[in-house]
Amino acid sequence: MKIIVQKFGGTSVATPEARIAVKDKVQQAIRKGLSPVVVVSAMGRRGAPYATDTLIDVLKNENISVNVRELDVMMCCGEIISACVMAATLQKFGINAMALTGGQAGIITDSQFGAARIKNINVSNLHHLLESGIIPVVCGFQGVTENNYKFTTLGRGGSDTSAAALGAALHAEFVEIYTDVEGIMTADPRIVEEANILHQITYAEVCQMAQNGAKVIHPRAVEIAMSRNIPVYVKSTFSDAPGTLITNERSDCSCGSDISINEHLASGVAHLCDLAQFRIELNPDDIAAGRMLFEDLADAGISVGCLNLSEKEAMFAVFSPDVAHTCKVLEDTGFKYVLNEGCAKVSVVGSAMRGVPGIMANFVAALAGKKIGILQTVDSDTTISAIIKEEHLVDAVNALHQAFKL
Ligand code: ASP
Ligand code: MG
Repeated sequence: MKIIVQKFGGTSVATPEARIAVKDKVQQAIRKGLSPVVVVSAMGRRGAPYATDTLIDVLKNENISVNVRELDVMMCCGEIISACVMAATLQKFGINAMALTGGQAGIITDSQFGAARIKNINVSNLHHLLESGIIPVVCGFQGVTENNYKFTTLGRGGSDTSAAALGAALHAEFVEIYTDVEGIMTADPRIVEEANILHQITYAEVCQMAQNGAKVIHPRAVEIAMSRNIPVYVKSTFSDAPGTLITNERSDCSCGSDISINEHLASGVAHLCDLAQFRIELNPDDIAAGRMLFEDLADAGISVGCLNLSEKEAMFAVFSPDVAHTCKVLEDTGFKYVLNEGCAKVSVVGSAMRGVPGIMANFVAALAGKKIGILQTVDSDTTISAIIKEEHLVDAVNALHQAFKL
């Protein structure tokens, strides 16, 4: 049996027409001799009656505080309704299908409500259904705790994680993530008009894209697929376009130091908004100053990014909602700082950039060409990022997209 996992996001199951498009995708897989396991998100986005955010708002609007356990039960309802409607749609078209909660599909998690981790998946029920010719329609985003079967959710966007974890547990041939765009793009098309669909991208790159702000696929899902080397396709429910294939390697690019930046070394440009940069003066004679600074921030539970530490100075960025708390910690502990609010982070992502000379020069030249000041850069094996003023974001993303010939 060749098992695949087909995950359909909120917009793919939102309307009767969309659900027929889903039915077509399931039917196509069956006709190819594959055994699909369907995973669904809740139907639609905020405002749609059973969307996750609408369900959360029901409780918020009552102005009562619910505990995290009840909130998870509430949120699970969205996927349960969606799976029932989707299974009924498949049945209407003669496809033998059955809706299953995360627990019924064997998904066992820890008890961290709202951000549960999958501990294991007992696939016997799914195997039994597949062998009987029944298509399981599994609620994404949810599981149950090991001993007492309490409902849990996996964190927002967690249906992707459910799909990848089911793919891993079932040794699926591949996982398909269906959405309303035709694949992963080289940049946000609302910012870059010429953004293109990527045919291929590596797991590492797509994780970096997601962590640096691209809303493509949940990074946890990619980590799971990567750990088992399961190919993942990101595709549109509403077209037959081939989508983006996520695997270990890109076969469409040559790697190594003998190639120039004119070739496709980068895969995409990602961006994050709503950041603030802190620059902290450090006494070069006090060797413990940097350590104390980061310990104080950690003790206060502040998560910082874009870290840079030298003898005389430390720099980092936080999201805007954390600014006041960070200022208070720095003032209480006596650190002098300069605060730069209204910042954004732009990142060029590409595994093939590793070890190629001239990448940083190209990056800096692209921003300088648009007279965009760089407040700080950070880099990793597969990314170069800059903190800039948010007002330059559109220009910066476009300039980098052009400079790296995406
Ligand atoms: N419905 C959940 C959410 O909105 C899970 C998902 O869509 O992946 O976060
Ligand atoms: Mg999603």
